[in-house]
Amino acid sequence: MSNYDVVCFAAHPDDMEFSIAGTIAKLVGEGKRVLQVVFTKAENSTHGTVEERMRELDAASQALGVDYRVLDFHDGLLFSDAETQAAAARVLKETRPAVVFAPYHTNDAGHWDWQAHHDHLECGKIVKEALKFARFVNFFDDLKVSHLVRRCYYYMIPTDRRPTFVVDVTDAREKKLEAIKKYETQMRINRIGVSMLELIETREKFFGMAIGAKYGEGFIVDETFRAEPNHLFEL
Ligand SMILES: [Zn+2]
Repeated sequence: MSNYDVVCFAAHPDDMEFSIAGTIAKLVGEGKRVLQVVFTKAENSTHGTVEERMRELDAASQALGVDYRVLDFHDGLLFSDAETQAAAARVLKETRPAVVFAPYHTNDAGHWDWQAHHDHLECGKIVKEALKFARFVNFFDDLKVSHLVRRCYYYMIPTDRRPTFVVDVTDAREKKLEAIKKYETQMRINRIGVSMLELIETREKFFGMAIGAKYGEGFIVDETFRAEPNHLFEL
């Protein structure tokens, strides 16, 4: 497996695209090499078979210009444990990304937030631990390297927190929609009379409002930034 600038972890096919496909499209447009790592095949999904979901993942990845890798953990039963953390740490050591994305690991709100799926939260917890294990040289007998990820940015499924920052994705919206619409099985979902596309757009507009943009994608950062005084004029 070759090196990547960015590795984006997701619990299910579609988590990344529905949340941050605009940011990913912009990074790819700037020449960054992006790998998506999906923990499960969404085999317990209410909508769509595994074969359909895998075909959709392939099509969406092609639309965005990213590579992908699917791990074989159980949909609905993803847990942050030694096995999942080791799997993520191995990916990080093999691909050596500077930047990692993952779903945010904590949901303070109730169970009505359908985006705060158990697997999403666990995926964030897995990655948070794997970032530490990736630094340990002797963690794997057959892969004795240390890799320090520069920054992990958590994307917002769940949505109940205030983002640390928002990326303006207005000019990447067309590419984002192209990728999202590859998930045909999910486009048929219509909760409370609101389509999946409408839900995604509502979230983008909500985040966008925080920075005076039409469409935005929110992220949370756990670490404290190191800053020099001149940085304060660039943020
Ligand atoms: Zn999901």
